[in-house]
Amino acid sequence: MNGEGPVCRECLQGITPYQPGKPSEHVRREFGLKRVVKLASNENPLGPSPRARRALLRSAAEVALYPDGSALALRQALARRLRVAPDQVLLGNGSSELLTQLGAAYLSPGDEVLTSHLTFVSYPTVAKLMNATLVQVPQREFTYDLEAMARAVSPRTRLVFISNPNNPTGTVVPPAALRRFVDAVPAACLVVLDEAYREYALPSRQADTVAWVRAGRPNVVVLRTFSKCYGLAGLRVGYGAAPRSVHWALERVRDPFNVNRPAQAAALAALGDAAHLRRSVALARRERVWLKQRLEERGFMVVPSEANFVFARVPRGDGQECFDALQRRGVIVRPMPGPYVRITAGTRPQNEMLVRELKKLF
Ligand SMILES: *Cc1c(COP(=O)(O)O)cnc(C)c1O
Repeated sequence: MNGEGPVCRECLQGITPYQPGKPSEHVRREFGLKRVVKLASNENPLGPSPRARRALLRSAAEVALYPDGSALALRQALARRLRVAPDQVLLGNGSSELLTQLGAAYLSPGDEVLTSHLTFVSYPTVAKLMNATLVQVPQREFTYDLEAMARAVSPRTRLVFISNPNNPTGTVVPPAALRRFVDAVPAACLVVLDEAYREYALPSRQADTVAWVRAGRPNVVVLRTFSKCYGLAGLRVGYGAAPRSVHWALERVRDPFNVNRPAQAAALAALGDAAHLRRSVALARRERVWLKQRLEERGFMVVPSEANFVFARVPRGDGQECFDALQRRGVIVRPMPGPYVRITAGTRPQNEMLVRELKKLF
């Protein structure tokens, strides 16, 4: 840019814009393909619950009205589900917005944000946007190393972000280790447990984290979302359980109408469809194992996953080359730095198309 005109904040120089990948329709046209399968964004291949679809259609008649800024009906339903008070429920335009709100509420310049390498791309952005210092600890076997992270906590650490299961590696931290970590962190440091993929993990491998909030821990926030297992990524609804003090703070930074009217209606309806959730979870648990086996047969190294995707090392070349070659053949995956790709577990026919194309490449 030339030297004239308004100058944005210096910290924006360090932020990499999110790279969403091409929409399926663009890929279809660009490469002249009949069929394109997108396994890049960990969306639910079954789509949303039919109940959510109906609620969404009904809400179309009401979009001239502002949404309920407090999202009372959805808030109360979530409070009942999580067994916390309504003013311990956070709601955001996706849980991504809740991450940004937490940064705006808790980070001053020079504060530290602690997380891991090879984790959710939004955490560094939140830190940089607030001029905070990002501290990233290496993983062990593609899993958060909580002991090393506990040692990396300093008096300046304000926020800790833990993606559990972790995006992009799909691993979970052992419940007892997570409990020890949370116990070790000073009360003045807020631990954000990002559980966007929680539903997919086996229950025995997940700590009851909301119980810690319920029990009155002042510094634990649990974030979840309707974007993954509930199949509502396009509507943008994230939620969380948090101490009242955190809710109080976020009420002061959030946009008053941050969760839109159709989104509130659909999310509320989706919460009532346990069968759809079960089907979605069962599909992902079955297909992640199937994908792992098929990929290993083709020479990939695949990390065991507790989520609806797998993280894999390509046998030769790098992740970007593998991505490019697959995209030309109508299968969109997510390239990762170095020799890795992340692949969402789709339906069996979708996954079969991936494997068919991989066989031609490897
Ligand atoms: C997908 C995802 C989210 C949720 O994003 P939304 O903004 O709710 O769509 C949050 N954290 C992680 C680690 C994710 O992968």
